[in-house]
Amino acid sequence: MQQPIIEALKYPGETITLKGWVDSKRDHGKITFVDLRDRTGVVQCVGYQMMGELTPESVVAITGLVKARPSSMTNQESPMGSIEIDVKSYEILNKAKELPIQIDGDGRDINEESRLKYRYLDLRRQRMQKTLKLRSDYAFALRQELAALKFTEVETPMLTKSTKEGARDFVVPSRFQPGKFYALPQSPQQYKQLLMTAGVERYFQFARCIRDEDLRADRGFEHTQLDLEMSFVDRDEVMQIVEGMVKAAVLKVGGKLQQQTFPVISYNDAIAKYGADKFDLRSDSEKADNILAFAWVVNFPFFKKVDKADVAEVRDGKSGWTFTHNPFSMPVPADLEKHLSGTDVGSIVTSQYDLVCNGFEVGGGSIRAHTPEILRATFKIMGYSETEIEASVGHMLEAFQVGTPPHGGIALGLDRQVMLLAGETSLKEAIAFPMSSSGRTAVMDAPSEISQEQLAELSLSITPSK
Ligand code: ASP
Repeated sequence: MQQPIIEALKYPGETITLKGWVDSKRDHGKITFVDLRDRTGVVQCVGYQMMGELTPESVVAITGLVKARPSSMTNQESPMGSIEIDVKSYEILNKAKELPIQIDGDGRDINEESRLKYRYLDLRRQRMQKTLKLRSDYAFALRQELAALKFTEVETPMLTKSTKEGARDFVVPSRFQPGKFYALPQSPQQYKQLLMTAGVERYFQFARCIRDEDLRADRGFEHTQLDLEMSFVDRDEVMQIVEGMVKAAVLKVGGKLQQQTFPVISYNDAIAKYGADKFDLRSDSEKADNILAFAWVVNFPFFKKVDKADVAEVRDGKSGWTFTHNPFSMPVPADLEKHLSGTDVGSIVTSQYDLVCNGFEVGGGSIRAHTPEILRATFKIMGYSETEIEASVGHMLEAFQVGTPPHGGIALGLDRQVMLLAGETSLKEAIAFPMSSSGRTAVMDAPSEISQEQLAELSLSITPSK
């Protein structure tokens, strides 16, 4: 196994082998200096009449003597500046040709297309390495909190039936059942509720959610959310547990919080005060310091009038009313009667709670309908016939008749939180291989055509667009 470069500090006077990338090379006549880099550090390697052939970013194994540098020559700026490697021999493990993009700066001056086409190089830059590590550390910190709270991690299917989160579905044709399709999950919403029926009581998952929506700066086709659900809880209890977990994890990765107790604001007050249900509570100096200002928003209307320009809303809201957040939510207790009878629909308040941070919605959840009557009433208000209700959520109505505990949960957007923790302004900076703004995948060429043979196998044919 390779010796991490930072470990070289432990072996003054010894000959060791280090492997890594050529960070830079300087030729001074017969002497060549190579800075060798790996994820742990950068060390200067000095070769006499050798290494001239090395190109930047080639991968090499260097064997040499670890020498303390004279104190007058110690590079104070560099953590490994007190030593250098007196090179005895080296081997090129992979020679790098001229790089298509530069990786030594922060990369912000390079166009998106090139950065994503060569993402494996783009990720090599220090800024991106730091963000990848931050993402991993933050997810780990959240997992530790969840483990301490006795949550069970459960995976749910990717090939499934349509789940409603207000977007269009991505569908996958079935080869065995021609003309039938799976939908990729817009969220694990229904499965996590079924896990409450299953007696799991505390569930979580870092879930991939796939939604066919119009691409915007703070949204892509797929995102990762920390999805969780709990039985026998009320709204305040879920908010309290989630707040404690988020705070602990943010602090663990070095994030700074504006307020130790997240303010709770009603939807109406947020609209009156900030003109939106997501807002930025930071002062200019807090923005410069990358402070995180979290707040809760509660008491949203359950339903809204369908926006006729939004295809998914038109599909979901057959009566002209559709849900604002989540059709599986429970209304607040005071509005339950109105909900069950479908009266004064516009005034029904949902138990939804959104977590906002620095102007972004970073999470949202609710207490759920856990009886067939309440869920049926929601779909009735949206104009579904009995047959349509059975076809879309019959399985949930069935599960709600065999002992489903009261439950609620939340989903926290991991990409957005990492973006904010890293002080970035684009979601793409928080994702290893994000899609381009036009919906093309990084590095690999998708979407792309499939062969006639594959189409035939799936009983599909393509109608050319007019
Ligand atoms: N399923 C919801 C979403 O993905 C979150 C939740 O209510 O737990 O937005």
